[in-house]
Amino acid sequence: MGRVIFIGAGPGSADLITVRGVRRLAEADVVLFDALTDPALRELAPRARWVDVGKRGFGRAANQEAINARLVREAQSHACVVRLKGGDPSVFGRLEEELQALTEQGIPFEIVPGVTAALAAAADSARPLTRRGSGRSVSLTTAMTQLGTLQATRSADTEVFYMAGRQLGALSRKLREAGWPADAPACVVSRAGWPDAITSAHRVDTLADAAVLHAGRPAVVTVGAGAAALAPRTTPADASATSLHMPAP
Ligand code: SAH
Repeated sequence: MGRVIFIGAGPGSADLITVRGVRRLAEADVVLFDALTDPALRELAPRARWVDVGKRGFGRAANQEAINARLVREAQSHACVVRLKGGDPSVFGRLEEELQALTEQGIPFEIVPGVTAALAAAADSARPLTRRGSGRSVSLTTAMTQLGTLQATRSADTEVFYMAGRQLGALSRKLREAGWPADAPACVVSRAGWPDAITSAHRVDTLADAAVLHAGRPAVVTVGAGAAALAPRTTPADASATSLHMPAP
């Protein structure tokens, strides 16, 4: 029996995978991968058999069972099976189900983290997710519930929504219902981490404007403190005056 290595491929270009991810990938006999990952990653495991489980007949919710079963089967006949996932495996990656399937069969595994889309979006948009004094908490949230309905929250200073790209107008309304002010900053980044990433800045109530620009591209929506454009730097005189009135973050 072999082992399974879950590797986060990062959100885009092959060079955003970690060095550890590259090393483990080179050991693979079989790689089970999803649609979003960069084809250039194949060069990192040229002798492995690559299986696209993101394809129709495999991927998505209804077929998670088929992926779990395939993972177990491959691990029973190969020394090293890599399960390559977009972004980080622990973030909206159905990792729990796949780990359970392996654990039930006593198959050993390892998890190599990756750069999740929210972090690549923060980098591409030059909008830090945490801000001294205004952004102490970050929440990664899927806009889609398990039943496929859209939900929004206001549970952190900065909220990053995954899987909302197709319903920006609806997300805007749900954000207002959740208590976000109409003028709260919102930033949309699609294909974060790719050379053709697009970033656009909005307010919560004008989020629907982003729909055409990002149509058909994987996108995350950042709302709140971490979506604000950088403020001009305060002068030393301003800073000392401010610090007299502001509590330490
Ligand atoms: N495990 C992945 C997330 C998978 S869920 C991660 O850690 O990033 C799929 C959702 O992730 C998409 O609907 C989209 O919201 C987001 N996403 C994935 N890749 C992205 C990218 N390159 N740019 C922006 N959003 C992306």
